[in-house]
Amino acid sequence: MKVRGYAAMEAKAELKPWEFDRRELGANDIALHIKYSGICHSDIHQVWEEWGPAIFPMVPGHEIAGLVTHVGPSVSKFKVGDRIGVGVFVDSCRNCPPCLKGLQQYCIEGMTGTYNQLERDGKTPAMGGYSNVMVINEDYAVSIPDNLPLDGVAPLLCAGITLYSPIKHWKIGPGKQVAVMGLGGLGHMGVKFAVALGAEVTVFSHSPAKEADAKAMGAHHFVSTKEADFSKQYRKHFDLILNTVSAELDINIYLEMLNVDGTLVVIGLPGKPYAVEVGALLPARRSLSGSMIGGIPEMQEMLNFCGKHNIVSDVEVITADYINVAYERTVASDVKYRFVIDATTF
Ligand code: NAP
Ligand code: ZN
Ligand code: ZN
Repeated sequence: MKVRGYAAMEAKAELKPWEFDRRELGANDIALHIKYSGICHSDIHQVWEEWGPAIFPMVPGHEIAGLVTHVGPSVSKFKVGDRIGVGVFVDSCRNCPPCLKGLQQYCIEGMTGTYNQLERDGKTPAMGGYSNVMVINEDYAVSIPDNLPLDGVAPLLCAGITLYSPIKHWKIGPGKQVAVMGLGGLGHMGVKFAVALGAEVTVFSHSPAKEADAKAMGAHHFVSTKEADFSKQYRKHFDLILNTVSAELDINIYLEMLNVDGTLVVIGLPGKPYAVEVGALLPARRSLSGSMIGGIPEMQEMLNFCGKHNIVSDVEVITADYINVAYERTVASDVKYRFVIDATTF
């Protein structure tokens, strides 16, 4: 079927309107009328080939919220009219140990990304959510609670789950000291989740003007990384540091703020290696780890948690013709706190 979207026709190109084909509905597929599509910094990294060679034309977008319009004959999870979300992957092998545990993002064969990847047939390029219609296997969609607005929900499908998963994995709750590095799309969700779970939350930001917003989101402390010696009072302080920064930085300053047995989780993907001082890890048995999005069961758990606690992303809704400006503003850290495209404008 023919659908409308916005695509980059080659690396670093501006995104433009583009008509392309989606597959016809298979037995276990659902067709989705996309309502809102979030702009993740990963979209920009990939259009700009900051992570290596990419597949073009590229329709980015993996923060997708919409309504089911058609269901294949064997679909059992959803019906027409349901509010559903699609995130960063649309398939996986389904048989490896991580897949069987619901950790599809860590599939041994590799998850099938929502875009910039070939589908499991090995030849069809996957096309993402900057589009008005999508076709997805029902096992890779999640259900959106009725009380949440779809524009604020869209970013939960990547930014939300990407912070929820490590916060749950490292058992964050009352009495824990949590730091969030970078108050962007991912970081602001990390603040909301860690606060909702009862932790004491500190934001490290290179944008001092974001302090009031951070506090309004519930952060207890705000540290401007532009201040000299900003880390001094936090030596051996944090149980968990969540690094969502999209740019290169000195990770050792942050490792030294971890308490004994604390963990720094790398989430931001600037595309360049970090130089790690062994001497910043040893003196407190610190761990440096990484975390990538979350699996389907955890995505559903996260959305249910958001429904219960009334958590959504703070969004700036834009029309599709604003995408290229939104990219520039995101890279300049000028976003409050996620751009979301109104899919009627594709
Ligand atoms: P974003 O909205 O652009 O936020 C990134 C934040 O990093 C900015 O708002 C800014 O926060 C800080 N920052 C940016 N440039 C900086 C610089 N030069 N120095 C210091 N701080 C800087 O991006 P996002 O969508 O949240 O994504 C963040 C990163 O996570 C990206 O690299 C993205 O690809 C990656 N990501 C990873 C996963 C995963 O599964 N691990 C999932 C999605 C995205 P302040 O203004 O507060 O300093
Ligand atoms: Zn993303
Ligand atoms: Zn697998």
